[in-house]
Amino acid sequence: MLDNFLSLCASSSILVTPTPTTFQIAPVSLHPCPFPSSAWSNLMTHKKSFNLLTQSISSPVGYAGFLRPAIVEAAQADPFTGRLLRIADDVFQERYSAPPYPPLPTYTPTTPPPPVLGILRHDYMLHTSGTCKQVEVNTIASSFGCLSTSVTAVHHSESLLSDPKVKVAPNKALHQVSTGICSAVASSGGGVCVMVVQEGEKNSIDQNMLIVECAKRGVKVVRMSMDVIGSQIGDVKMGEDAQVEIEGKKERVGLFYFRAGYQPQDYKTEGDWNTRLLMERSSASKCPDVFYHLAGAKKVQQVLAPNGVVEGLCGLKGVDELFAGLYGLGHEGDADVIQMALDNPLDYVLKPQREGGGNNLYKDRMVAKLKEMTREERKGYILMELIKPPQFQNQLIRNGEIVHDGTCTLEVGVFGVSLYNADGVDEMEGVEGMGEDAYICRAKAEGVEEGGVAAGFAFLSSVQLV
Ligand code: ADP
Ligand code: MG
Ligand code: MG
Repeated sequence: MLDNFLSLCASSSILVTPTPTTFQIAPVSLHPCPFPSSAWSNLMTHKKSFNLLTQSISSPVGYAGFLRPAIVEAAQADPFTGRLLRIADDVFQERYSAPPYPPLPTYTPTTPPPPVLGILRHDYMLHTSGTCKQVEVNTIASSFGCLSTSVTAVHHSESLLSDPKVKVAPNKALHQVSTGICSAVASSGGGVCVMVVQEGEKNSIDQNMLIVECAKRGVKVVRMSMDVIGSQIGDVKMGEDAQVEIEGKKERVGLFYFRAGYQPQDYKTEGDWNTRLLMERSSASKCPDVFYHLAGAKKVQQVLAPNGVVEGLCGLKGVDELFAGLYGLGHEGDADVIQMALDNPLDYVLKPQREGGGNNLYKDRMVAKLKEMTREERKGYILMELIKPPQFQNQLIRNGEIVHDGTCTLEVGVFGVSLYNADGVDEMEGVEGMGEDAYICRAKAEGVEEGGVAAGFAFLSSVQLV
């Protein structure tokens, strides 16, 4: 069975590239992972809620009135978030000829704000309580949608052959993400999509699948690193077109699609930060723009979590139930929160304002960090209740070999694609296939704390509805 499965994976391009010239089958699970149908349909009904919520808090009024105040102290404690906030403030000031503080009831742009493509991925685990709890929301570089679509197709074929009763949830991630990209290019006035990538990216197959899918629809997507973009973009003023050189020809950029830029290592020089600012100023659509990017900060998720906050912001009911316990740190009287974690270190996780996996602190490391930080430093972190997912059996494959045969847990990520234009209208609303299931399912061996596939912790899988 393993050989059959591996050849299906290889022929479906479920591959990663450990070096620029070698290919390897991505870490995958042999079987899909069980997930209750009712919890699954509940998550899918909330796709639109998270699109709306993220748009609402990253709009000019939302940024000035909620997002900026929510994150400003964490940005003082964390220099990376601080840089992003500075860019957001600068762009805001240039675009609206007003600072984002104090908040005003409306803002009038000097040039029309470009459309913002949201490729959200909200991640969940089942909790022992039987409910589903949100792990986090990703607003930038949400990846593995394309490989996941293929993994689901392979699990579907496998189940047809071995047990037709197995119901694998369909996966429209590739379709939805590529439709979003093509629409965002068109909506900003046409041109090419520049996919901003890290040098030496191992997950380039996932990116190339998008490039092929967009090419079929007549949209050119080029992968470029931050410094190459910086060497070509010139000086872009607010609302001006950005251009890059492709095969000796200058092309207008219709969309900057970030698959990099979410971690400090992605900005190697001051020049890279300036490049980010120039991209933000340009007339191109952004996926995401800096406001939407900041809306995904861990600190923001914590501020949104208490009952009624989301409803108060945008009238959405029922979203709160998905949040686990989230606690701010660094405020006056945070001693109680710290003591709660010190007394029960196995029930909490400490999170900095970081993305990409491998940054959270658990158990002894969490305890040590909580004890050593100053109050100002604590403002850069949040504390989260540990979700304890139910276990099941599966086989996990790395480099073509079963490396774990036994107890596993899973995390699912639901993709929600939106394209908000200057009037705050979602141009993806009603577009065929956009409301359907689109997801990444990751399995990991019992006891593994982190969850990234690229970071080496998790294995791509599919949802088996039970
Ligand atoms: P990142 O943005 O780096 O992916 P996450 O918040 O998703 O940060 O945390 C990384 C991983 O840590 C998750 O994929 C999950 O496996 C684990 N994790 C995070 N929060 C929790 C939690 N509250 N309970 C259990 N596991 C968690
Ligand atoms: Mg994340
Ligand atoms: Mg994550």
